[in-house]
Amino acid sequence: MSKKPAILLIYTGGTIGMVKDFSTGALKAFNFDQLLERIPELNLLDCTIATYSFETPIDSSDMHPEHWVSMVNIIESNYDTYDGFVILHGSDTMSYSASALSFMLQNLQKPVIFTGSQLPIGDLRTDAKENLITAIQVATFQKNSVPLIQEVCLYFEYKLYRGNRTTKVSAELFNAFTSPNELHLAESGVHFKINESLLLKHRPEEKCRVYKNMDTRVMILKLFPGINQEIFESILNIASLKGLVLETYGSGNAPTEKWFLACLKKAMDQGLKVVNVTQCSGGSVNMGQYETSTEMKEIGVISGKDITTEAAITKLMYLLGQQVPSNEFKDLFEQSICGEMT
Ligand code: ASP
Repeated sequence: MSKKPAILLIYTGGTIGMVKDFSTGALKAFNFDQLLERIPELNLLDCTIATYSFETPIDSSDMHPEHWVSMVNIIESNYDTYDGFVILHGSDTMSYSASALSFMLQNLQKPVIFTGSQLPIGDLRTDAKENLITAIQVATFQKNSVPLIQEVCLYFEYKLYRGNRTTKVSAELFNAFTSPNELHLAESGVHFKINESLLLKHRPEEKCRVYKNMDTRVMILKLFPGINQEIFESILNIASLKGLVLETYGSGNAPTEKWFLACLKKAMDQGLKVVNVTQCSGGSVNMGQYETSTEMKEIGVISGKDITTEAAITKLMYLLGQQVPSNEFKDLFEQSICGEMT
């Protein structure tokens, strides 16, 4: 008889782990030791579940790269013991964390599935149970005794997405996430449909590579009509700033005003890495398609192609953290590391 898959459930915080205290009506953090008692349905899953909780669970608005390192450490030290990992996380910054972990845990041979919920697990109408139960189930899927999912994913409201392709789009709907430039990897209905051709596959002989240095000297700047020269210049002149995600218009367009390009060029000459991503919710940067992006291409602005802002900022942190040689940085950024861009 084959062994049941073993899943490690890691609770970092967020709405999903809240229950109502019936005496006061207030929401409080869920005691993870009582997980199976609270959600007896989990006993029906054909796997074993162990739990690990952050000592102080956080609202994901307080998420920080140090927490990403904690998650990576937990996965790294338990990598050989478990067949899959499910991370319960607040939905607000879940796409950032899923993107970050995809760069920090490369060549994964096991699933790391992020999930959370819009309503607490103790709420009558909660979306937490379905998200949690199916995320665990997804983490147990195997083919020829090998985990089927070998990457960082995000499961929410019946869909499994590549984590570094997602973005949170609704603060209200259960259907809170989307993956604008990549199809979802699987969908849960009466049957669970997996689009296997989209899944990342890794060579078993190569080990999982773990990276823990994330350089936070980065910034996201969204362009808007009327952007002020003095303010733009002072941001780009910040001496410690190493990387900038510039959210431009449409297919990567920006003002053609002389001061704007001169300021970008000066900062880049001094070593700033600038990544062009579109502020549209779908589509790709294509510098040179319009006059308004040609000069950015000429001065060496990095094309973020169809990457999300969440993946762009975490990829910048990761590449800067690896101290990649300056002359290789643009090429490395413009290549996909783990499916984050087409
Ligand atoms: N503010 C919460 C968080 O991100 C919302 C949620 O859990 O969905 O932690």
